[in-house]
Amino acid sequence: MADKFDVIVIGAGPGGYVAAIRSAQLGLKTACVEKWQDTKGNVAHGGTCLNVGCIPSKALLEASHKFIEAKDDFDDLGISTGDVSMDVKKMMARKDKIVKNLTGGISGLFKANGVTALDGTGKVVGDKQVEVTDFDGKTATYDADSIVVAAGSVPVEIPPTPMTEGLIVDSTGALEFEETPKRLGVIGAGVIGLELGSVWNRLGSEVTVLEAMDSFLPMVDGALAKDAHKLLKKQGMDIKLGAKVTGSEVKGKEVVVTYEDADGKKEITFDKLIVCVGRRPYTKGVIADGVDVELDQRGFITVDDECRTNVPGVYAIGDCVRGPMLAHKASEEGVMVADIIAGHKAEMNYETIPSVIYTFPEVAWVGMTEQDAKDKGIEVKTGSFPFAANGRAMANNATDGSAKIIADAETDRILGLHIVGQHAGEMIAQGVIAMEFGSSAEDLALTCYAHPTMSEAVHEAALAVEGHAIHMANRKKRK
Ligand code: FAD
Ligand code: AMP
Repeated sequence: MADKFDVIVIGAGPGGYVAAIRSAQLGLKTACVEKWQDTKGNVAHGGTCLNVGCIPSKALLEASHKFIEAKDDFDDLGISTGDVSMDVKKMMARKDKIVKNLTGGISGLFKANGVTALDGTGKVVGDKQVEVTDFDGKTATYDADSIVVAAGSVPVEIPPTPMTEGLIVDSTGALEFEETPKRLGVIGAGVIGLELGSVWNRLGSEVTVLEAMDSFLPMVDGALAKDAHKLLKKQGMDIKLGAKVTGSEVKGKEVVVTYEDADGKKEITFDKLIVCVGRRPYTKGVIADGVDVELDQRGFITVDDECRTNVPGVYAIGDCVRGPMLAHKASEEGVMVADIIAGHKAEMNYETIPSVIYTFPEVAWVGMTEQDAKDKGIEVKTGSFPFAANGRAMANNATDGSAKIIADAETDRILGLHIVGQHAGEMIAQGVIAMEFGSSAEDLALTCYAHPTMSEAVHEAALAVEGHAIHMANRKKRK
């Protein structure tokens, strides 16, 4: 029998590594098991987020956005660039360097905080026991008073489009293209599909997005989702709604995709196809046979509000449990669980988890849409403000989009903030904080915002709730 720990965390993604660091900070003897290996066979901490998710996708989104700015927008500002071209290999090398720095950084944080890194595959094998198989196949068993499973998720595959090396790929493959495909298909107009489609659309691919649902971004407030749809189409993305992919055939170096829409069966040919139809929890091999940790019908580990599984002492967090599959949600659960294990009171507010799509402009939201509120029978009042009327947006050459606040008609409490606009992902934190503090729209309206900032659009939206926006012709009845 090897060492005994207070806490063993399985998985070092944003859920697991945060849980491990927080546990160690609270004085618990902590180990974190991770099986992800880089191309040289060394452990790579950071999970999906750092290796093949949030960070590499944002590195490519930033590079491709700067390319578009230099190519199409700089002239407007008086800057002459001559011909602008993108060296895809260099862009990828920069992305890989960022990933390496960050994953190495987590290993450094483990050392600094006294977390024992166990490299290999972890398995809950019994009451308070974890078996670890290292990269050489050697096995050791460790005792732990508490175990946190943070095994994450993997992309969903669908039968019509089986993965085909270099031709039909998932999100990970789409972060590795060596050159810009001419005709690119994306299945799924969700967050990941739109982000990856945007990268390659900006770099010159003819992008077609096939989305089975008739609605576009149903989780975003209707008016803003419509606006985002229009803006992405204007950039050249052909987003086909109500188009369900039913089959594919690889013909040489092309993929012929069959889909069905309201008019019947259709075919379309691509040079590459990215399948972005969602992610599923990953729990393969994490729980040994005979250990009775419950999974739900969709394969998520069943947990209560405090991320306890049905087995005492075993917790589960992040993408492998219910709730939005987001890095910051996983991390917050990691903090909560560590606090609870250390004997502190902790809870999470799942109503105020923000979401961001890092397209241009960005789409960000927290809380309810106007429709959500109506469906729940809550009477609401709303205030919207367009970036076209915001001075900083004009100066930034970024006047597309708007901010919208949804507030309870009776109490004025903010129920949701939805933003389409440059830096919407930064601005949404205002809505999160306001909702965390139970603020009213009036609280934001009475807050002094720095000028000139994009955030002033949120301020004006709060003022607009009562028809008092300053830089807009208000049509609402004034009080
Ligand atoms: P993961 O990050 O998946 O980590 C789980 C870890 O557990 C992995 O490292 C895995 O190797 C390890 N593991 C599994 N089983 C074992 C085992 N038996 N033993 C040892 N180790 C094990 N979210 C955002 O919030 N913002 C974004 O901008 C964003 N962009 C994304 C872009 C893309 C392309 C993708 C694919 C995802 C994106 N996400 C984003 C989602 C985000 O990456 C996930 O929500 C987040 O990584 C979940 O964290 P986690 O810790 O639960 O799991
Ligand atoms: P998300 O879950 O946000 O990553 O989004 C995945 C999207 O893929 C959803 O909007 C689904 O409707 C869509 N989707 C799933 N299967 C198909 C399919 N066969 N054809 C087209 N779209 C699909």
